[in-house]
Amino acid sequence: MSMKIEYHEYDVLVVGAGGAGLNAAQVASQYVKTAVISEVYPTRSHTISAQGGISASLGNLEPDNWHWHMFDTVKGSDYLCDQDAAEFLCRKAPEMIIELEHIGLPFNRTPEGKIAQRPFGGHTAEYGKRPVKRACYVADRTGHAMLQTLFEKAVAQGTQFYSEFYALELIRNDNRVCGVLCMNIQDGTLHLFHAKAIIFATGGNCRIYETNSNAHINTGDGLALALRAGFSWADPEFFQFHPTGIYGHGNLITEGVRGEGGILLNGKGERFMERYAPTIKDLAPRDIISRAMVKEVLAGNGVGPDKDHVLLKIDHIGKEAIMEKLPGIHELALVFAGVDCTREPIPVMPTAHYQNGGIPTNYLAEVIKGYGEDGEEVYPGFYAAGECAANSVHGANRLGTNSLLDLVVFGRTAGERAAKFAKENEIADLPENAGEKGVKILEKFANSNGKYTFGPLYKELTTLMQNKAGVFRTEELMTEAVKELDDIEDKLSDFKVVDKSTVYNLDLIEALELNNMVTVSKVAAKAALLRKESRGGHSREDYPERDDVNYLKHTNAVLSGDGKSIEITYRPVRLKPLTVETFPPKPRVY
Ligand SMILES: Cc1cc2nc3c(=O)[nH]c(=O)nc-3n(C[C@H](O)[C@H](O)[C@H](O)COP(=O)(O)OP(=O)(O)OC[C@H]3O[C@@H](n4cnc5c(N)ncnc54)[C@H](O)[C@@H]3O)c2cc1C
Repeated sequence: MSMKIEYHEYDVLVVGAGGAGLNAAQVASQYVKTAVISEVYPTRSHTISAQGGISASLGNLEPDNWHWHMFDTVKGSDYLCDQDAAEFLCRKAPEMIIELEHIGLPFNRTPEGKIAQRPFGGHTAEYGKRPVKRACYVADRTGHAMLQTLFEKAVAQGTQFYSEFYALELIRNDNRVCGVLCMNIQDGTLHLFHAKAIIFATGGNCRIYETNSNAHINTGDGLALALRAGFSWADPEFFQFHPTGIYGHGNLITEGVRGEGGILLNGKGERFMERYAPTIKDLAPRDIISRAMVKEVLAGNGVGPDKDHVLLKIDHIGKEAIMEKLPGIHELALVFAGVDCTREPIPVMPTAHYQNGGIPTNYLAEVIKGYGEDGEEVYPGFYAAGECAANSVHGANRLGTNSLLDLVVFGRTAGERAAKFAKENEIADLPENAGEKGVKILEKFANSNGKYTFGPLYKELTTLMQNKAGVFRTEELMTEAVKELDDIEDKLSDFKVVDKSTVYNLDLIEALELNNMVTVSKVAAKAALLRKESRGGHSREDYPERDDVNYLKHTNAVLSGDGKSIEITYRPVRLKPLTVETFPPKPRVY
């Protein structure tokens, strides 16, 4: 392995080329010299697989407005989102859709030529009275269309891309972030990117669960790097389990299927959501449906020889409608479940889908440094957007289609703020030991020759997270999880990377990713153990109620000591919106 480090200098450096990173980059590139580094070619980022849509209260098919959208976002989050950020998100949404349309995103249209909209879980009219058509979409390939459009725009703006560059370390000095150390996966060379402003847009981490809907690269690298550089992870215990993963595989069947009229049935053929959410039934938020499905299975109402899943029926909307609006789903069901959904129901169970928390920021996507007596202090020149960030609009549970929206809203804001910062500030000096930590981790794994290899250890980690820190959680299971995760971490010191080459060494990349996944899992499990209530995606069998007296607060996790210990503190939720009145916590009935 060559340890010569090539130097690059930019005004703005974006890490990650999903929807958030590309939108940030195309905006920043309009003002300053901007580069994007990405582990994969940009259009292979997970955003490509987003299916169902992007929300905005355009009101193209029926009356809608951003107040209702904001209400749904706050209620959907189980009151853990910051209400200033929720207002910012929902007010900006219509403008962002028009902007995307103008740069070429080919949305589906109504017969009159307006942007078409479909209903989605948890989106309602008149503060919860009935489902509303709010999700703009491109068939069931919305993310695909969005990522291609944003990539073309970024290229046109002159963004410099470094594809298949793997970030190893976020470099900072006392008061500024100043660079990122990367390895070029294609030849093993090291590169130090020195920049005035840095935007993290590294996506999610649901690969830590055995059954998940995520791309292979969603291993929480950005979070682990930020944690190691001393930044915090907000609300790490909150994951979203999407109700309709293909049984046995986890691939996602979009909520758009239920938006188009699909319904869930148990083994008795009952439409059981009528019992759990009488008003909006199969379009209740994801956490509520996932728990209802697991409860049906536990009550013996499941389907199949083991009665361990339920069914998603869609054939009644007709073959023509399915092939026009949900062609990708038809293909997925055929390939993974062997089911032709124009004739038969699809077997489904919840799948780990989304990380709700992330690197904490304010609503301007500026990373928060700490929480002193004077409130929050931001860290100059450091921004985060997309799934790796807690901006924080999703709280304990994200509404479907609010993620693609958050990518473009906070991606744009991060791009604008970073460009402004870069124009107004000189580049910060690199610390003397810049890149040392990253090189050390790289060398540790590149030269490793111990007992454990990626496959079995990854399996051990993901089954542990699935069984002991998954949909249902208890004190006992999670105490075991925390302990066993320490054991897995110890095994990383006796690891073996078999491939010793420098060219496209994915064995090495997987080892580095596993190292990050272990860190991320440890933080998530510990935070989940300490939150003794049920809220949104965090469901404790031993504390089944939401507890606003003790837990209406954000978790704030940092690494301490040798980087192996985790310190957890809490901070208040921002219940004060920018302009409208507060939505105080209420029971969450749908
Ligand atoms: C199957 C599926 C369907 C979905 N459908 C919808 C939907 O219909 N509507 C909706 O709103 N949301 C949906 N979501 C959620 C949404 O798509 C994601 O939350 C969102 O796309 C994440 O975008 P991102 O820009 O944050 O990151 P990603 O698109 O995940 O991109 C992450 C980027 O970070 C880079 N990266 C990561 N680690 C490193 C590293 N170490 N070094 C260098 N680069 C790195 C990667 O290369 C990649 O470019 C869906 C999610 C899934 C999984």
